[in-house]
Amino acid sequence: MITRTDHYDLHSQNTFGMRVSCECYIEYDNAADLSALDWDSLPRPVLHVGEGSNLLFTGDFPGTVLHSRIRYIKYVDMGADSVPVAVGAGVKLDDFCARACADGLWGAENLSGIPGEVGAAAVQNVGAYGVEIKDILSGVVCYDTQLHRKLSFQADQCGYGYRDSMFKHPGNRGRYIVTGVLLRLRRSYSPKLDYGNIRKALADTPEPLTPMQVREAILRIRDEKLPDPKRIGSAGSFFKNPVLPRSEYERIAASVAPAEVPHYDLPDGTVKIPAAWMIDRCGLKGYAEGNVAVYDKQPLVLVNRSGQAAPEEVVALEQKVIMAVWERFGVELHPEVEHI
Ligand SMILES: Cc1cc2nc3c(=O)[nH]c(=O)nc-3n(C[C@H](O)[C@H](O)[C@H](O)COP(=O)(O)OP(=O)(O)OC[C@H]3O[C@@H](n4cnc5c(N)ncnc54)[C@H](O)[C@@H]3O)c2cc1C
Repeated sequence: MITRTDHYDLHSQNTFGMRVSCECYIEYDNAADLSALDWDSLPRPVLHVGEGSNLLFTGDFPGTVLHSRIRYIKYVDMGADSVPVAVGAGVKLDDFCARACADGLWGAENLSGIPGEVGAAAVQNVGAYGVEIKDILSGVVCYDTQLHRKLSFQADQCGYGYRDSMFKHPGNRGRYIVTGVLLRLRRSYSPKLDYGNIRKALADTPEPLTPMQVREAILRIRDEKLPDPKRIGSAGSFFKNPVLPRSEYERIAASVAPAEVPHYDLPDGTVKIPAAWMIDRCGLKGYAEGNVAVYDKQPLVLVNRSGQAAPEEVVALEQKVIMAVWERFGVELHPEVEHI
């Protein structure tokens, strides 16, 4: 079934809590609804959203917003160690993680607590605590809005990279609507505990662990650092971590010596520096201006602290952070959050 609402309030459709609207809002229950849609009659542009947890609406949206209600979790084969599971694009990723953990299956536990829906997760290649969704993904089923037909991609055709996929690349952006994904979980004991402080959080839990114990530890760790979108509006990490040539990293390291610059050496010789550290060093951690702020527990996150923020306030704070980091370090930060 297709539900269409004109002049729809998007406030509850974006975790930043921007009070914006769209010309036309359409929800649908299955992939066949997308074929049945009269595409030519839709106000343009057309944007597909999930929970709006990686979006900043910078004003009212003049076109059509689509949202999926395709919600199923189906185990395809419970027989072997590798358990294929088909998941509808409109399922909340965390609901899927909870279900997998409750069923004692490994693979999704480290992704627990990431906001958003499974369809967007496959587009974004979401990741946390050493696991990306590509690590458990076998295939993606889409509706092609150019050819108006169903299309399937194997994981190796999706061009996955860090928070990236071919679905986001120019020419493809908005073309493919993900309607379902095929994920693979495991029965055999395979916890991934080597990232951040997962081991520390589980120090008092005797092994062998269960997927649910790892999930609960991850949720506790996330809760200490990240704002719960139900209470404080945000879109998670607002900026990408800059990846710099080694010479740039050395210049920065010399400028802050004797302090240490946190960094990760990447295989291609470049160096990634946490943007959160740079923002903190600019004295902006916890900085508040009107209805918006740099989150005091994690400076990579900008928050709608009163719930009343206007898009312009978020954009003004974004610019302030970018300018401050540029003036202090000569490095240009780029937003991770998609501006609409
Ligand atoms: C508090 C907080 C913490 C976060 N933590 C993490 C984290 O740890 N790791 C991480 O990777 N991300 C994190 N995020 C970012 C966000 O949760 C992810 O990017 C998530 O995948 C977005 O899902 P969504 O359903 O909200 O998608 P939206 O934000 O609505 O959309 C994101 C993109 O996907 C497209 N899209 C949505 N649905 C579909 C579909 N069915 N088919 C095709 N395209 C589609 C949209 O057009 C848009 O381009 C966090 C966000 C918040 C608010």
